[in-house]
Amino acid sequence: MLSKAVRIDRHGGPEELKVVEVEVGEPGPGEIRIRHKAVGLNFIDTYQRTGLYPFQMPLQLGMEASGIVEAVGEGVTHLKAGDRAAYASQPPGAYCELRVMPAKCVCRLPDDISFETGAAMMLKGLTTQYLLKKTLPAEGLQPGDFVLFHAAAGGVGLIACQWAKALGLQLIGTAGSDAKCKLALAHGAAHAINYSTENFAARVKEITGGKGVKVVYDSVGKDTFEGSVDSLRPFGLLAIFGNGSGPVPPVNLGLLASKGSLYVTRPTLFTHIATRESTQAMADDLFAVVQSGAVTIPIEQRYALADVQQAHRDLEARKTTGCTILTL
Ligand code: NDP
Repeated sequence: MLSKAVRIDRHGGPEELKVVEVEVGEPGPGEIRIRHKAVGLNFIDTYQRTGLYPFQMPLQLGMEASGIVEAVGEGVTHLKAGDRAAYASQPPGAYCELRVMPAKCVCRLPDDISFETGAAMMLKGLTTQYLLKKTLPAEGLQPGDFVLFHAAAGGVGLIACQWAKALGLQLIGTAGSDAKCKLALAHGAAHAINYSTENFAARVKEITGGKGVKVVYDSVGKDTFEGSVDSLRPFGLLAIFGNGSGPVPPVNLGLLASKGSLYVTRPTLFTHIATRESTQAMADDLFAVVQSGAVTIPIEQRYALADVQQAHRDLEARKTTGCTILTL
């Protein structure tokens, strides 16, 4: 069987993304073959394209999609041919019509959640799930707690604004324009700060009466690191989960002592979804919050597979908000 797929033959700019035809075979043990209905676009795809996260070539990009299971390999018991399904996957390979992949990370998609929503929400929604519910150890976050969330009008960001509100948290969102700040507020952020024009750490101190926040969720990295540290209360946690502006350079850990016994973590979704059981438990939580209406998945951009280069350009130029999908 042939499938259109987006591949790179070397790391580089969006021009390296090529639509090609690939042969897709039968699933082996522990695998499924899935025919996609929609594919999610994520900022992590740009790290894999540029080589910030290096991979062997050629590489078929893409980490999230939804579709219909066509065939299952030996030993796969949680899925069968004909099931609606969605996933966030490691290894990459979702930018295509059809693929064979490990079944472990694939979940049945409830009938009342559309394929487009499924494709847009798995990687970003499961990420939000572990950030808000599994990242702060000990007593966790309590209703009323302040958290700071950077890039709050992005894909993960707009899901986090809504989910944090549903949990009773006071999410302070940052974003790169006033329009994006409005969007974050409309999705449940308690406060929004335009970090292109304002000193966000100073504003966070004002909003929290000088105390600082319990957790900073920082996916911007290099440009925000210093302000993120300055936004924390004593014993606060900095969760650096992305590199939107570039990776954080090496730091002297003494900084954490001088700023008040701070904690830092660099989590990744892929540790959280390493087993079928944890993937399903997190997905069930995500499906439930979406089915309840407390979180809607804001798909703000749609591109044809053939326009994937433009999609990457727009994502890197900060022109997108919310979630982006590739339509098939
Ligand atoms: P977004 O839709 O949030 O897009 C990235 C946003 O980052 C931009 O829209 C922009 O928002 C902001 N940004 C700040 N500085 C820059 C810069 N110099 N260049 C480009 N963008 C910048 O993407 P996603 O929702 O797909 O992902 C959000 C982040 O979460 C990414 O960093 C991603 O790698 C990370 N992530 C991490 C995971 C993990 O488990 N560790 C899993 C999933 C995602 P603005 O203009 O408002 O500043």
